[in-house]
Amino acid sequence: MERVYLKKAEDYGNSGAIERSVASLLDNCGMDLDYRGKKVVVKPNMLRKCRPEDRITTDPSVIAAVLGYLSEHGADDVTVFDSPGGVNTRESILASYRACGFAGPAEKYGAELSCDMSYTEIQLSGGATVPISNTILAADYVFNVCKLKTHSMAGLTASVKNLFGAVPGAIKAEVHLRFPERDAFCRRICEICAAAKPTVSICDAVIGMEGDGPSAGEPRKIGFLAASKDPYVLDRVLADLLGMRPEEAGTVEASISMGLAPEDVSEIETAGDSISHITDLKRAKSSEFDFSGSLPAFIRPLYKAVSKRVAARPKVNTAECVGCGRCAEACPNKAIVIRDRKAHIDNSKCIKCYCCHELCPVKAVHVKKSVLRMVAR
Ligand code: SF4
Ligand code: SF4
Repeated sequence: MERVYLKKAEDYGNSGAIERSVASLLDNCGMDLDYRGKKVVVKPNMLRKCRPEDRITTDPSVIAAVLGYLSEHGADDVTVFDSPGGVNTRESILASYRACGFAGPAEKYGAELSCDMSYTEIQLSGGATVPISNTILAADYVFNVCKLKTHSMAGLTASVKNLFGAVPGAIKAEVHLRFPERDAFCRRICEICAAAKPTVSICDAVIGMEGDGPSAGEPRKIGFLAASKDPYVLDRVLADLLGMRPEEAGTVEASISMGLAPEDVSEIETAGDSISHITDLKRAKSSEFDFSGSLPAFIRPLYKAVSKRVAARPKVNTAECVGCGRCAEACPNKAIVIRDRKAHIDNSKCIKCYCCHELCPVKAVHVKKSVLRMVAR
């Protein structure tokens, strides 16, 4: 099993310190390779067009450190690739790269910014076929550079979930629609991660996000960087450091059940700095409690039916909505209509993927807590 390397990092202000920490993590992971003539793809988290200080996307100092490392090690064909969910154009993707702060480091180190949304349908290990970006498929090396955040649908987003970005732009909605249940979706994410073949995964956990992540939560200082060649064991360790049980982090739970990560985190060797566990991380309001296991078997179907009806769901605050239509474009099941310049959700069609919540630029889509959870807390 691959090791996980951890390095304390207090803030992004000292870019020299971030560079040294990233270089040390990559050296420890054995990334001192011959890159000449090889295609290298750096995959940040570029969830949507936003500023680095929103703490939604991978910090540009971490991307700059990775690009600097690759340049120093002779890489001469490096591409930065990601595509926000929803409908994209070349101009909108370039605008996102600029806003997120990735354009400057790319220019400095001679890396290309990819706007290529072409893809190939790939059969995943579980048998399903999913479109994967040709840019990712053509890479010799994929550097997966994620941000550590809570996530309204999956519970947690880190290195495995970051590679859902291998599915280009608007096509992500199709994958949500084909696998609407959280468990099945998270298993597909694990398989998509395997298909993307990350050479190494690096996690920006200097300032992450808690609460209603991945975009509407609050920034949370976590204070470290982490890396591993194995994204599944990396996320298992990250979930543990955040104080999350596997069942609270959908892709971690799925990777354990698929035999990709151990349930017992002590089986994973960590090296580097000692990092304190977080004990008070705010979870996303959408997270549910499942009491069914403690109920008599004959009541469980009724419990499941009731809990489905009163489960957490997205809700638009029409006073905040500016009618941009981004949520409606991204909604996989066409559950959102724009009327009188306001978004309206048809709950009967909603599959609770939270793409609308994730992509709303003014945070007008909130999460209405599950009634069961309100009773439980
Ligand atoms: S809810 Fe947000 S994304 Fe949807 S139309 Fe309103 S402002 Fe735009
Ligand atoms: S309304 Fe929002 S949460 Fe529901 S299916 Fe559409 S995008 Fe997903």
